[in-house]
Amino acid sequence: MDLPHPAREVTSTSVPTRVDGLADALDGLVPVHRPGTPEHAALSAAVNPARPRRPALVAAPRTPQEVAHVVRLAGEHGVRVGVQGTGHGRSAPLDDAVLVSTVELDHLTVLPALGRAHVGAGVRWAQVVADAARYGLAPVCGSAPSVGVVGYLTGGGHGPLARTLGVSSDRVLALDVVTGDGVLRRATPVEEPDLFWGLRGGRGALGVVVAVELELVDQPTLYGGALWSADVERVVHAWAAWAPGLPAQASTSLAVMRLPALPGVPEALAGRTTVAVRFAWTGDPEAGASVLAPLRAVAPLLEDTVAVMPYAAIGSIHGDPDAPVPVHESHLLLEDLGPEASERLVELVGPGSPCAQVVVEVRHLGGAASRQPTVPDAVPSRAAAWSLFTVGMALPATVDAVAADAARIAAALAPWTRPGGLPNFTPGDGPGWAERVYPPPTRHRLAEVSRRYDPDGVLLAAHAFRTP
Ligand SMILES: Cc1cc2nc3c(=O)[nH]c(=O)nc-3n(C[C@H](O)[C@H](O)[C@H](O)COP(=O)(O)OP(=O)(O)OC[C@H]3O[C@@H](n4cnc5c(N)ncnc54)[C@H](O)[C@@H]3O)c2cc1C
Repeated sequence: MDLPHPAREVTSTSVPTRVDGLADALDGLVPVHRPGTPEHAALSAAVNPARPRRPALVAAPRTPQEVAHVVRLAGEHGVRVGVQGTGHGRSAPLDDAVLVSTVELDHLTVLPALGRAHVGAGVRWAQVVADAARYGLAPVCGSAPSVGVVGYLTGGGHGPLARTLGVSSDRVLALDVVTGDGVLRRATPVEEPDLFWGLRGGRGALGVVVAVELELVDQPTLYGGALWSADVERVVHAWAAWAPGLPAQASTSLAVMRLPALPGVPEALAGRTTVAVRFAWTGDPEAGASVLAPLRAVAPLLEDTVAVMPYAAIGSIHGDPDAPVPVHESHLLLEDLGPEASERLVELVGPGSPCAQVVVEVRHLGGAASRQPTVPDAVPSRAAAWSLFTVGMALPATVDAVAADAARIAAALAPWTRPGGLPNFTPGDGPGWAERVYPPPTRHRLAEVSRRYDPDGVLLAAHAFRTP
């Protein structure tokens, strides 16, 4: 059984005393920032202000060895460790913890002859996309270039090309990681294979990843973009029937949007319910255009941005907003999106429905995203066919209604859902989160490997798996 706090000999002292002890021990070794300082605020800021992070201390190590110092000394002082790259994702509450900010671990080397990149934990997808593009290469990234590479990969990663190029973490060749015992290790298919298994999909439960080695793909351009229409009903039905028959070069998602009239939102899309069909095609553009033709013809279009684009413009396919906005998110997996389910979806979220979400997104999975990787990993739900994700404004006046609305949508779609969730899309934390996301064998193995490499339970993320 795990003790409630990590280092057994110091758990009798209060949290502030332990944190003070840790800060003193790190003084002169690793930059640390106390609450109330601008650095503390900046390095612990969450992109979703509805989920503020208030760590007792922030450490900003500049090298992997400094990360090891922080984790080892945190363990010795009975302080748990969280980790943050960009603040885009979710995190367990950090109130009594030291937050390791990885922003200083920002090295990036692209090795074109090997088709690989060595990426520090503080690097965002935008940098890898831009550097790889100089050689006609590309990383298999997510929809938003501002998301952190490592934080994203720890959850597997289903991007705009997931159905064509697979789950992003399938391209991870090696990880450098500081485990909860404060030791810097290298995980590959042959070195520390249990870590290599669990760091791909296990969401940081097994260590603070300091760098990854990533395989790049030869993809200088794409045929991609989005089709926008106000005819939600017709487009949703046509898309749900069309997507399962797509060839392997195509990946697609759909989003029903209620965009506010704000600067940057095109007039044609603001203040009304619209639908966007996102399309990404890796083959010959003419062939891609004929595959997309039925969707182009199904309803009048407000916007059509699908064209040949440099891979470096991949973020424009989804056009995810970058500014910090307080949001409520929900996620579920669908087994089936046949006529009955798509009819229900339109009733629930289409025009005329009481839908309180700004975005209801359905990603078509399957294809290469369903393929098991050559070396097994902890990424769950590979057999899922569709992912549904909702985003609503979490302002004090709206958050309850938005949450209730997300529950209404989930309840009504229950006949078509399947258990499980994608780690990067499932909100929440703790054991309840892990139970929603992972099947029991994966959870139990993550807990077992965590106990081996982190006997005192120093890493916060591990506690979603290691219940007393
Ligand atoms: C606009 C937007 C678009 C997105 N699009 C996609 C998408 O297309 N596909 C997809 O799969 N996901 C997507 N996501 C989800 C995203 O992948 C996760 O939120 C991811 O965790 C973000 O990682 P981060 O490092 O940027 O965030 P952070 O908030 O910094 O980190 C989130 C969590 O990741 C883990 N983590 C971060 N760094 C490390 C590290 N060095 N070592 C160990 N664990 C670490 C920790 O558990 C941490 O709490 C999107 C998110 C946003 C906000």
